[in-house]
Amino acid sequence: QAKELGRSRVAFYDWSIDAEKTDRKRLANELREALEADALHLVYQPIFEAQTMRLAQVEALLRWTHASQGPIPPDLFISIAEESGLMDAVGDWVLRHACRDAVQWPTVRLAINVSPVQFRNPGFDRALAGILRDSGLPASRLEIEMTETNMVTFPERAQNIVASLRALGVSVALDDFGTGYSSIGYLRRFSFDKLKIDRSLVHGVSVDPETRRLCEATIALGLALDLEVTAEGIEFEADAEILRQAGCSYLQGFAFARPMSAAAIKELLAAGATPAGASLHEA
Ligand code: C2E
Ligand code: MG
Ligand code: MG
Ligand code: MG
Repeated sequence: QAKELGRSRVAFYDWSIDAEKTDRKRLANELREALEADALHLVYQPIFEAQTMRLAQVEALLRWTHASQGPIPPDLFISIAEESGLMDAVGDWVLRHACRDAVQWPTVRLAINVSPVQFRNPGFDRALAGILRDSGLPASRLEIEMTETNMVTFPERAQNIVASLRALGVSVALDDFGTGYSSIGYLRRFSFDKLKIDRSLVHGVSVDPETRRLCEATIALGLALDLEVTAEGIEFEADAEILRQAGCSYLQGFAFARPMSAAAIKELLAAGATPAGASLHEA
């Protein structure tokens, strides 16, 4: 152990990295405590059917409000959960709570983000089947969102899981498309139901001709592979119109609705399930 330490103590020791490591370690401990104290919560962002603008789906997004630091960005605490061995427990919590909430919204489908760490776990599909059974949510109302990391780091395993999820009746979406490998080969090999175009690709679609052509081509690619296509991160109605014309199936973004509480989703349904009924602030 001492030898190990000696070897890693290089001449130019970067103390900022050290501090960051300690910080992440502390946050990991606090995240574990938050999980045990049931101090995490979920918000749900509406996703609208592009042509009719009816509420079709909600995406569950995890939130952690730290006692002294306030809200911690999900990208940060999810990566901390992944590196500290907490992701399975956090992911399980998300699946259980989201399915339980979604049972109350009979006409709305639920999308849940699943980390590669959960995907790699050999018991994942069986555990998910159990959670569906416990919650009473029909498998057909659930969609799992995964990222390309899965396909690249353990393609065989990921392919099997996607197949077994679809056998359960759960649909599978490829999230953040356009940011990573965006490989056509992988898209053909995996039987996804849906492609979610990342907001970095969508941003500026109504003002920049190249962005527009790229989005149109990406939507066409999805449709050619018989996939549904969701565009995420839409902040302006002008952008939505172009995506709609290009054949995009679903639209998600702050232009229509922010992530909101389960109770607010219920109110939105009661108010007619259109963007007009949605609050523009996350609550
Ligand atoms: P994601 O799955 O791509 O989720 C969409 C993100 O885009 C959410 O960020 C959402 O709030 C944001 N967004 C939606 N519309 C707009 C828009 O019009 N403009 C802008 N600027 N942003 C928009 P959020 O909630 O911060 O989550 C970030 C990421 O954290 C998610 O990206 C997902 O990868 C991860 N994440 C969140 N919850 C979970 C979870 O329960 N499990 C796992 N494994 N990952 C999660
Ligand atoms: Mg997502
Ligand atoms: Mg995404
Ligand atoms: Mg993401």
